[in-house]
Amino acid sequence: MNLINPIERFGSSLISVQNPSTYTGGEIGSIVKPHRENDGLFNFAMAFPDTYTIGMSNQAIKIIYQGLNKKSNIRCERVFCPEQDFEELLKKTETPLYTLETGMPLNQVDMIGFSVGYELGITGVLSVLDLGNVPLLKKDRGPDDPIVFAGGVGATNPAPFSAFFDAVFIGEAEGGMFEIIEKLSQMKKAGASRDELLAEFARCPNVWTSNMSVEKTGHSKAFRAVWEGFESEPMLDAFYPLPNIRTVQDHGVVEIMRGCPNGCRFCHAGVYYRPQRARSKKKIIDYCRRLVNEAGFREISLTSLSSADYPDVGGLLNELNSIFKIQNVSFQLPSLKVNSFTLPILEELGEVRKSGLTFAIETPDEAWQLRLNKEVYTAHLVELIEEAKKRGWNKAKFYFMVGLPFSETEEKTEEKVIVEFLKDIQERTKIQCHVNVGTFIPKPHTAYQWVRQISPEESDRKLRYIRENLPKGKFRVGTHDIATSFIEGLMSRGDERAGMVIYNAYKKGCRLDAWEDHLRQNIPLWEEAFAEAPYDVKNEILRERSKDEVLPWDSVSLGPSKTFYKREWDRNEQEVLTPVCKPDCDHK
Ligand code: SF4
Repeated sequence: MNLINPIERFGSSLISVQNPSTYTGGEIGSIVKPHRENDGLFNFAMAFPDTYTIGMSNQAIKIIYQGLNKKSNIRCERVFCPEQDFEELLKKTETPLYTLETGMPLNQVDMIGFSVGYELGITGVLSVLDLGNVPLLKKDRGPDDPIVFAGGVGATNPAPFSAFFDAVFIGEAEGGMFEIIEKLSQMKKAGASRDELLAEFARCPNVWTSNMSVEKTGHSKAFRAVWEGFESEPMLDAFYPLPNIRTVQDHGVVEIMRGCPNGCRFCHAGVYYRPQRARSKKKIIDYCRRLVNEAGFREISLTSLSSADYPDVGGLLNELNSIFKIQNVSFQLPSLKVNSFTLPILEELGEVRKSGLTFAIETPDEAWQLRLNKEVYTAHLVELIEEAKKRGWNKAKFYFMVGLPFSETEEKTEEKVIVEFLKDIQERTKIQCHVNVGTFIPKPHTAYQWVRQISPEESDRKLRYIRENLPKGKFRVGTHDIATSFIEGLMSRGDERAGMVIYNAYKKGCRLDAWEDHLRQNIPLWEEAFAEAPYDVKNEILRERSKDEVLPWDSVSLGPSKTFYKREWDRNEQEVLTPVCKPDCDHK
């Protein structure tokens, strides 16, 4: 293999690009397995379809990196999507994109695994493949090309991506992916061909391929892998490698819980990460010790989908504060459900440094909340904010969505309800409100998978109303880009035809579309790609699906059955809550 040493290859040109150290590797904690003649190691590229500064803040990448490198037969190295200036340098010097640890050209590895956490990353996937001289379409790959697959929350509807990925792994990597790749590494050592490796991978029950069938692969549906050992098994060193430059999230992270018990009907992550599993306090404290003493972090996020639902989170924070206060370490709980957020939690959160107070409300109307299966007690919220103010917090962040499937009247619209609620909260508490409003995108594998997505025009009208009706001195309002939501809808529920629209948009120059400013520039290119498609793309994105329709993601199961989602939809119509999920519940 012709390894690429970026310092030798690019010389002083490297300093002409932004953040050159993001292309050189060599960070503390990176794992280098030197190449030896015929070492027979399975070369795996852990790819992220966005830039280094985003990717190095992503826990999944580091978990997979650590998990695979524990296997002696596997050499797992990282690759990220370059910024445009480095893309130009690669092209000018005719250098293929390479992995960071030992500079393996991407087209010479055995397998490339993309972590797709959000659907809009797909143009980043194509960019990485293209720059690595790997054919973009799976049909064009031959016996010497790498196997290309994806995994992650953003890939549970594989249909729009099926032209690009040879396979998709559904579910948690620790739930079986390491073992199947280890098996492939042994097969490679024994001389297996690419076709044989791919056929073996496709036989894994968690792997989706476009030609799955009981006869060919042993299953006609891919089932989500769940890591049973989340609570019992040791934690991987998911804080290494330590990035050389400041990344978007440069604090320590400890995953205290996986899964969320709440079952909000619009929520895809809530289904993807079921069931709720919590790590012991001891394990969390030991890990924090390493984050502080080995990696030098002084701010630590205790992450999960809904951290206030961690059993005895107040007690956990109390213990952490009493151990680490002397080292000036502060702890944050990034995602808090209002009803599980208590005053003792608030007290502990402010102990060392005041982190942000964030409340995900979605909609403040009580009947609509019953539809979502998410109650937010306003009186409790007011009490929390009043207490927070007394303890020195002066601002709070609120998240809302518009475009949820509610029956509106002229008097009662989503935007009016949000504005009235916020004015009332602000009036009562006098807190500075940072408001963030997004457009709801119906997600596969949820009770709302069939509903209509609102058009960009409707979304614009609603968001504008909110911006214009909240006084500037008291409210800072941010609204998600409507084009972003619209394009995300293409991938979220699209079928195979969406793949060719994506391919066409990429060929026209669309890159890094998860970034609002990139996407805004790329919109004319996306519009051209829509216009050239042989079907009405806009209608397909927005239309309501019939309950009897075969959906593009029916060949994937995240656990619950379609009957469960339909039942949840009916309960939504009846405005009835479904109790929280228990490990042994029948939410299937
Ligand atoms: S609280 Fe609701 S929205 Fe948040 S992760 Fe859980 S199910 Fe999803």
